[in-house]
Amino acid sequence: MSTDKTLAQRDASCLWHPYTQHKTAPSHIAITKAEGAKVWDENGKEYIDAIASWWVNPYGHSNKYIADAIYKQLTTLEHVLFGGFTHEPAILLAERLLPLLPDNQKKLFFSDNGSTAVEIAIKVALQYFYNKGEKRSKILAFENAFHGDTFAAMAASGISFFTEAFRGSLIEVERIPVPVFGKEEESIAALKTLAATGEYAAFIFEPLVQGAAGMVMYDAAPLDELIAICRDNNIFTVADEVMTGFGKTGKNFACNYLTQQPDMICLSKALTAGTIPMAITTFTQELFDGFYDDDVNKALFHGHTFTGNPTGCAAALAGLDLLESVEMQENIARINNRHHQFLEKIKRHRRVANPRVCGVILAFDVKRDSVESYYGNFRNRLYNFFIEKGIIMRPVGNTIYVLPPYIISEQELTYIYEVVEEALEKIM
Ligand SMILES: *Cc1c(COP(=O)(O)O)cnc(C)c1O
Repeated sequence: MSTDKTLAQRDASCLWHPYTQHKTAPSHIAITKAEGAKVWDENGKEYIDAIASWWVNPYGHSNKYIADAIYKQLTTLEHVLFGGFTHEPAILLAERLLPLLPDNQKKLFFSDNGSTAVEIAIKVALQYFYNKGEKRSKILAFENAFHGDTFAAMAASGISFFTEAFRGSLIEVERIPVPVFGKEEESIAALKTLAATGEYAAFIFEPLVQGAAGMVMYDAAPLDELIAICRDNNIFTVADEVMTGFGKTGKNFACNYLTQQPDMICLSKALTAGTIPMAITTFTQELFDGFYDDDVNKALFHGHTFTGNPTGCAAALAGLDLLESVEMQENIARINNRHHQFLEKIKRHRRVANPRVCGVILAFDVKRDSVESYYGNFRNRLYNFFIEKGIIMRPVGNTIYVLPPYIISEQELTYIYEVVEEALEKIM
């Protein structure tokens, strides 16, 4: 291995990155170390991770408490197959997690990432009706939703340029408007019409915040209505909490704001505190019972090699310890307060539109003369400006958002706000 080349150069000759057009993308920044809310690149430059590394890392990088739990598990029982076998970390995690979710959630199924958590929810909804001999093969979802990149998850996702090439191979999905302020009735009316056709097996949604769409926020009340309509029409509801789970919205789960209860919940991202890839889909007893039969063909024939990995479970259990600690709950409230103060300050700025906060998530749109695409030039200018200033942020189109690790310091948060204000003056 040659040592006269940088990591970025060596990367360019052998790696293929996600969501990247390699012909036009700048070279990748090689990170060599991370701690708390900070990461360092191979030249020693420091960055604040203002988006918790794609929302996975709420308790800080290289967290010792999580690392110790993983090490202990690795040296006790690192992995064992989950078909025909079980283990205490998986049982403990189910026993601890299910009571934190709406109380109709009774069964927990493991997989490896957010997309597979969604894939499983959709397969379960479709097979539930198949097992009963009913034909319900379509899915309902919101406009501009993001549910992942595997086939069923991609079908449910509404960001068109992500999925355009595969259109002919996807399951049928119908979209309704997101019930953002002022559009509640339109959304509810659209769902009522479609639900009445009896063709839909499930309605999947990101509760309260659509992450990848650019932190689009809406209230719990219209979502409660949408869930109730689905219940009345025998359509299962799937809350995709892959992004919103584990404190991001201010409560442990976005579903904790609802009075209605979804039938399935998808979790991943922050589940293992940013360490081991793992995901969970939870179900009601009714859904589980739809597969419980003397006929083996009615079982859920879905699994992954690393299903229920004990090391991932140990990381998730340690993550729950941290999430439920007084310190972390105070951090979440602290960040929410600071976000509100900052929005007060900038909301009348001539370039700020649609300022919004939910839990630790702050977002607003930057007013521009022309509208550019998701990965357009303006977005790249913002991104590069933040990187130059030592902040990792990924604006979505003209939306700037901050979703920091909960342990971020007051100084680090202040610095992010200052640089955001500077961007509003400098980046046109
Ligand atoms: C990130 C995300 C997914 C996909 O998760 P992966 O782990 O990237 O497959 C699904 N749903 C939502 C809401 C997400 O934010």
